[in-house]
Amino acid sequence: MHYDYLIVGAGLFGATFANLATKRGKRCLVIDKRSHSGGNLYCEEIEGINVHKYGAHIFHTSDKEVWEYVNSIVPFNRYTNSPVAQAPNGKLYNLPFNMNTFYQMWGVKTPEEALAKLEEQRKDALEKMQAEGVSEPRNLEEQALTLIGKDIYEQLIKGYTEKQWGRKCTDLPSFIIKRLPVRLTFDNNYFNDLFQGIPIGGYNRLIEGLLKGVDVKLNTDFFNNRTYWETIADKIVFTGKIDEFYDYRFGKLEYRTVNFDTKILDEANHQGNAVVNYTSADVPYTRVIEHKHFETFGNAVYDNPKTVISEEYSTEWHDGMEPFYPVNDDRNQKVYEQYKELADKEQNVIFGGRLAEYKYYDMAPIIAKVQNFFKTNGK
Ligand code: UDP
Repeated sequence: MHYDYLIVGAGLFGATFANLATKRGKRCLVIDKRSHSGGNLYCEEIEGINVHKYGAHIFHTSDKEVWEYVNSIVPFNRYTNSPVAQAPNGKLYNLPFNMNTFYQMWGVKTPEEALAKLEEQRKDALEKMQAEGVSEPRNLEEQALTLIGKDIYEQLIKGYTEKQWGRKCTDLPSFIIKRLPVRLTFDNNYFNDLFQGIPIGGYNRLIEGLLKGVDVKLNTDFFNNRTYWETIADKIVFTGKIDEFYDYRFGKLEYRTVNFDTKILDEANHQGNAVVNYTSADVPYTRVIEHKHFETFGNAVYDNPKTVISEEYSTEWHDGMEPFYPVNDDRNQKVYEQYKELADKEQNVIFGGRLAEYKYYDMAPIIAKVQNFFKTNGK
């Protein structure tokens, strides 16, 4: 059979593309080299708990159209991400940086007191930048120091970020930390978005819903038979690594990957929260996820006497590993731009997603991107 679209990769971009194209009467074939669909959203059920096999995914958006679309595939629950961080000083702090964090860090009780403290904490870094005639933070460290100051940078940011990215904060782009809100209210919601949640029954339901009625071939690597796959459809939607698509001709892009040490524990409630970050450089993992808290709330967590946790170890990506995060530093960005120039000239290939666009995407913007594609490209 000849298809309108061959979609390489059954992750969120590919599955959403397949869904919206199929709704418009297009014939789609999705191939994926893994043995399951869903990309890094994939969950495995262990002890009755949906375990996020490739790291925690929390859907959040202010885009009503995106929210209604995903909820039309599967209803979402009311999970609100409110991680806590265990700092090098041994204490626990609420995230994101808000009045609770400031109270825990400095004992300040009002927004006015917190603001005065923050100003004092930011002062040195701001003065240093001024003295050097710099108007914008040049790296993540400067961004953090001018945004939130010294104590929080040292206790909650530096160690975590350097473990997560395997690079010094002075060598990382400032935008990474701009994701984190700073608030003068007692609000532990990690995101500022209007809508947030987890699909009821887990992410596999979302992916299965998106791929309903679509031809899917798993365990199928595009690169093992590229010439064949290139003839099977009018257009290719490519969601894999863009450098691999072009045979690494401008060099390899770098990625970070995460290894998970997942354990089943004989206790109902291990850490009382889905996400606990370990911000000290001395703890080898970045965070511990207790998966049941994504879908079970309050004392209902005690209904299951067991729990499943995953420690996350962040490492540099090498061949054979799953790439997770693009490393958008200057070197990689320059390499990517060269690939992008080739990609922009393609008539019959559409590139999308974290790996093909070499971009630190959240889930909702991926969906918005696909929706926009169909808005601008008509039927
Ligand atoms: N971050 C930090 N301390 C924390 C949590 C996050 O310094 O306790 C920084 C870190 O640089 C990280 C970035 O904020 O890479 C974004 O974190 P987020 O949790 O949003 O990333 P993701 O969940 O996508 O890994």
